[in-house]
Amino acid sequence: MRSVFDTGPLETVFTMKHLSSIFPSILVLGVLLCLPVSVHAGQRQFAFGKVWFGAKEEIEKIQDIKGTEYLLSHKYTLYFFFAGVYLSDDGYVLQPKSSYGSYYPNSEESIKEFQRAGLLPSPLPQYSIPIWQYLFGYSLWIVVAFVGCGPLLKLLIRRLSGKQFCHSCKLELTPSEIEMRVCGCCNARL
Ligand SMILES: [Zn+2]
Repeated sequence: MRSVFDTGPLETVFTMKHLSSIFPSILVLGVLLCLPVSVHAGQRQFAFGKVWFGAKEEIEKIQDIKGTEYLLSHKYTLYFFFAGVYLSDDGYVLQPKSSYGSYYPNSEESIKEFQRAGLLPSPLPQYSIPIWQYLFGYSLWIVVAFVGCGPLLKLLIRRLSGKQFCHSCKLELTPSEIEMRVCGCCNARL
C-alpha cells in the first residue's frame, strides 16, 4: 500500500541545462555565438566568458514539516541567454531534509496529503521570489531597454521640444540665430 508520505522519485535541482526545449530559435543563435567556445560533455551548461546560457533552478525552504523528512519549499527557474531572459515560478515542492537542493517533481499530491494529515496549513503559507532575482531573471531586457531606448528617447525629446542649444555657451538659440548659424550670445559659429 502506498504510504501517505510516499513522495515518488527524487530529483536534484539542476543548475544549468540546455535551452533546446525552451527557446529553439534562440539556441541556434546561441550555438553560432558559441562556436569558439569548447563545450564539455555532461556538463549541462556552456559558458561564453562569464555569460551563461541555459536554465538555473533555485529552491528555497518555506518551513519544516514536523515529524517528517521533508521541508515545504518553493522553486523557481531562471533562464539565461547572455543575461536573464525569463523567470518561471515553479510553485511549491517538497525537499528532503537529508538532501538539500533536491526536490520531488510530483510534490503536489503529497503536499495535499500533508495538509489532510494536519502537518501543513491550508492554504499553504505564502512565499515570494526576491525582487533582485526578478531583476536578474529579466536582466537581458533591462539591458536592451537601456541600450536601445536611451539614445532613441534622447532623440525623441530633442525632436519634440524642437529646441537647439549653442554648443559653446549652452544657451537656447532663436530660429534666426539657427538660420544665421551664429550664436547671438557668444558669437560662436554653429
Ligand atoms: Zn553661444
